[in-house]
Amino acid sequence: MFALLLWWVLGCGSAALPCRVELPADRAIAPACARCNDAGVIECPSCAKSTCTWGGEGRVQALFCTKAAACRECAGTRRIDCPACERPMPAELVQRRADGEAWLARMREIDAKLEGELLHAESAHFTITWNLRRLDFDPKEGVSTGGDPSHGAMHVYLDRMEALYADFLRDLSATDRDFCAKTHLMVWQKEHDQEIASLAYTGQASSTESKLMGRAPVVSIFYDKGNLHEEFELHQACVHQVTHCLLSNVFDGIWPGNIRGGWIDCGLAHAYEIRYFGSVRHYCYVEADTLQNFKFGRWEQAVLSGVLAGDERPFLGVTGRNTTELTPEEHMYAWSYCDFLLRKHGAKFGAVAKGVKAKKQVGEILQQELGLTPGQFQESWKSWVKETYSPKKKRN
Ligand SMILES: [Zn+2]
Ligand SMILES: [Zn+2]
Ligand SMILES: [Zn+2]
Ligand SMILES: [Zn+2]
Repeated sequence: MFALLLWWVLGCGSAALPCRVELPADRAIAPACARCNDAGVIECPSCAKSTCTWGGEGRVQALFCTKAAACRECAGTRRIDCPACERPMPAELVQRRADGEAWLARMREIDAKLEGELLHAESAHFTITWNLRRLDFDPKEGVSTGGDPSHGAMHVYLDRMEALYADFLRDLSATDRDFCAKTHLMVWQKEHDQEIASLAYTGQASSTESKLMGRAPVVSIFYDKGNLHEEFELHQACVHQVTHCLLSNVFDGIWPGNIRGGWIDCGLAHAYEIRYFGSVRHYCYVEADTLQNFKFGRWEQAVLSGVLAGDERPFLGVTGRNTTELTPEEHMYAWSYCDFLLRKHGAKFGAVAKGVKAKKQVGEILQQELGLTPGQFQESWKSWVKETYSPKKKRN
């Protein structure tokens, strides 16, 4: 016991009394290596002034960008080993360098398939492959591409997908851990590139748009000016398709579109279209892979008229179908049921989606999550539509 006490006094007690070691004044101030301040690394002289610096105010920090990673000296880390001293590079930087090189090698494999050096970047939740020479943003939007039209536009789109992801996370009550992988978005200037990429990365032959859903989603889009005339239409197409991908990926990697969850698969994609763009322009037939601009944009009015006339499509009629089986009218009602869930029962939307993806009966999901029978749900939706939807066209 005494020995223990002695140990405590000597051992612990000594920790409380710091011993002072006097350093010579000059050694305490001046670093041994003036070049790197003893950090072991200096700024990369090859790319410090020229590399991609995207990630400033209000923008998403890209983790990787080919424009940065292509620097042979630093692999996009913007720092190199100090040439003036023997200090080793910090382990964190060694790792980032290796990661940058491995990432670039993976992107170069895509380049090899498409026979060209493409732009690619990666953020926390997306990879983007970009082959548009320029994109004409509406000056009213005040979008800046930093004087670098192609590369800047890629980062603008990467930022926009991250903004969609943030909304999706909130709406689904999900966290980063609920996703199996990042979504890869590819955008092409040439139809031929779309044909190659869609087959290679989404497993479908397509000259317009295609996507691979589930555990590691990919969207490939040809920016066809014949279909997607203005820049915002490309943005809208990306929002629509990426929403399909995120929903297929979240929680379990299961696409609800072919297990009778077509209503939530399409309804949610349209919900973001209407939230961000005011109306629906995008309508994908998964099977036929035909892109159509259909004049069906004023959905609030149309659903309201349906309800007032008593000829709406009931929830149970819309919910039993796969995405490919939905008629244009059912797309519209699918959107409205999602809209209602998101706006009236927002905290439960994620749980409802989880139930659909687990192939539960919708009646059971409604009872379990909202405490409503299908009949009560139908009536509650109807009153909400009457109170909420405007008979006039409010937005476009
Ligand atoms: Zn960049
Ligand atoms: Zn460099
Ligand atoms: Zn040094
Ligand atoms: Zn769709």
